[in-house]
Amino acid sequence: MVIIVQGGAGTIKRLARRRVGVIKACQLGYGVLQNSGSAIDAVETAIVELENNPWFNAGTGAALGITGEIELDASIMTDDLKCGAVACIKDVKNPISVARKVLEETDHIILSGEGAVKFARQMGFKPYNLITQRRKKMFAKRINKLKQGKTLKYLPQLGKFISEYGTVGACALDKDKRLAAGTSTGGIFMHLPGRVGDSPIIGAGTYASPLGAVSCTGLGEWIIKLCLAKITCDAMEKLSAPKAVNMALKTAKTHHCEYGLIAIDKKSRIGLGFNTTQMVWAYIKDNKLKHF
Ligand code: ASP
Repeated sequence: MVIIVQGGAGTIKRLARRRVGVIKACQLGYGVLQNSGSAIDAVETAIVELENNPWFNAGTGAALGITGEIELDASIMTDDLKCGAVACIKDVKNPISVARKVLEETDHIILSGEGAVKFARQMGFKPYNLITQRRKKMFAKRINKLKQGKTLKYLPQLGKFISEYGTVGACALDKDKRLAAGTSTGGIFMHLPGRVGDSPIIGAGTYASPLGAVSCTGLGEWIIKLCLAKITCDAMEKLSAPKAVNMALKTAKTHHCEYGLIAIDKKSRIGLGFNTTQMVWAYIKDNKLKHF
C-alpha cells in the first residue's frame, strides 16, 4: 500500500506549516488504506484534509481570481478509467468530494460553473465561504500592482505574476492493487473569471490507468498543452514511476514550463519531481513516511 500527496510547487513560503499539512493528509490517507479502504477513498480523504487547510491553494484559502472570487477545479480518477471533475465551482467546501459524486452519480465527466454548484447542492453540499484574510491581503497587493500599470500585458504574461502553485493532489495504491489519483485547486492567482486550469482536466492534471496514477501542479495552461498526467501515465508501461516522472520533466525543459508531479506505478514505485524551487510532498510506503 502506498500513498503520495502533493501540496503545490513553486517558490513556496511557510514551508514548515505546509510540511505539517501534507504529512497529516498523507497519514490520514494511509490510515484509510490500512483499514482496507480503497485507493479512491484514500485519495479523497487526503485531498479533503488539504482542502480544509488554509495554507494550500485548494478549498478553504484557495487563490482568488481577478474579480476577487474563488473558482475551484478538482478531479478524481480510478484505474478502470472512471473519472469525475468539477471546474469553476464556487462556494463548496470540498470540491474533490463533488468531483467524486460526478464520477459516481452522473453520466458525465466534468460539470462546470453554475451547473456544478447546482449539482453540489442537490448532492447535499452546503454553501461555504472559502475566502481567508490572508488571501484577501494577497489580492489587495496584486490589485495595487495592476493599478500601477505593471501588468498591462497581463494576459499573455500571466505566469510572471505567480510565484507559487499551491494546488493539492494525491495518488494511492490499495491492498487490492487498485490505483487512484486526484487533484484540487483554486487555480492560478488573479486568473480571469471562468478560467479552467489543468486540475479538472482528465489527462492533464490527473490521470489513472492500470499502469499508474498521476497528479500534477504548476502552470495549468502548459500542463493542459502537454497532457502531462496522461503522457506520464502512459510512460509507465515501460518505465518505473520515477523514470516516467523524469521523462515528463525533460519535456518541461523543452517547453520552459513550470510544474511538479507525483506518481505511483502498478509495482508500488513512487515518482515525484519538479522544476520549480520547491514542491510540497509526503508519501507513506510500507509504513515508512518520507517528506520534503
Ligand atoms: N495547476 C493549477 C492551475 O493551473 C495551479 C497550481 O498547481 O497551483 O490551475
